[in-house]
Amino acid sequence: MKNVIILGSTGSIGTQTLEVIEKLDNFNVLALACGNNISLLKEQIKKFNPKYVCIENPEHKNNIKQDFPNIKVLSGSDGLLELASIKECDIFVVATSGIVSVKAVLKAIENKKTIALANKETLVMAGDIVMKKAKENNVNIIPIDSEHSAILQCMQTQDNKLAQRLWITASGGPFLNNTREEMENFNAKDALNHPRWAMGKKITIDCATLVNKGLEVIEAHHLYNFDYNNIKVVIHPQSIVHSFVEFIDGSFLAQMGVPSMHIPIQYALTYPERFNGIKTNSFNIYNQNLQFLEPDFKKFPLLKLTIECGKQGGIMPVVLNAANEVAVYKFIKGEINFLDIEKIIFKEIEKTTNIKNPTLDEIFALDEDIRRRLA
Ligand code: MG
Repeated sequence: MKNVIILGSTGSIGTQTLEVIEKLDNFNVLALACGNNISLLKEQIKKFNPKYVCIENPEHKNNIKQDFPNIKVLSGSDGLLELASIKECDIFVVATSGIVSVKAVLKAIENKKTIALANKETLVMAGDIVMKKAKENNVNIIPIDSEHSAILQCMQTQDNKLAQRLWITASGGPFLNNTREEMENFNAKDALNHPRWAMGKKITIDCATLVNKGLEVIEAHHLYNFDYNNIKVVIHPQSIVHSFVEFIDGSFLAQMGVPSMHIPIQYALTYPERFNGIKTNSFNIYNQNLQFLEPDFKKFPLLKLTIECGKQGGIMPVVLNAANEVAVYKFIKGEINFLDIEKIIFKEIEKTTNIKNPTLDEIFALDEDIRRRLA
């Protein structure tokens, strides 16, 4: 029996993780953590009977205890750290958004838990620190993102040294075939209408700007210890190939399937095995017209900027990530135009002087400062 803790259980990845666990034998939900969606959390408690829950706001503690007196109810970031220290935990699923879980991830690594990572900020903001700690503790960080899961699946039967290039596929987002003049006038509803993947709002906008793909390049750099020059982005509007690995003999291995987050989630839980649990609709291999296109960095300058920030390292990815998040939420609220997102980010990057090897405290302070200033 594998005991699983899920941070972010009421979000998009969290709920899908529970759907996967329902279909798998031998997986037990040990703890659930969420923000403030208490009614959904209660449904999840009824169904999965965890020993612990953790909620953001301590004011809701009594509300949960009244209905479920036998559960240990924790709260806030101290609660997350406590979850990261539970002995019986085997897999620590990190499906929160933002930076709230970074310290808990580091604690779970110290406690030698396998990390199934869906949260982008962990590696984008603190990739050097997190990967160093994982290596020291001999802990596996298994990606839940479809692209990084595809790379992991392609590399699994190979010696990693035989891989020479990673090709990360991108759908191109909803504006792939629009001009920049047209993009100027798009509102949040247009941008939230993603052609292939159903995801949370923030990440869907990040797909429209292609920032998401740049962040995934940064994550791939950390996860697979690949030089940025050997990580390529390829636009693949059909989202059937979830990424490629190119090997030293020129062979490409791809992982394919209909787009569904259930598969990378399940693979992260069962890694290195593949189980007969949840299934996607079978992919019809006949008469597919799969395209692979070069990204247009002029039309999507944030893709280039995000990768450039990754290459520079230090605090640059932190600044980019924080400025992006503030700008995206402003756009979702209708306060700014679509192309204003990039104006805000470029302005912030231009005035930043890089600092190499920031500490975790410096990263958090900087992140908070940018958010406060740009809000
Ligand atoms: Mg992805």
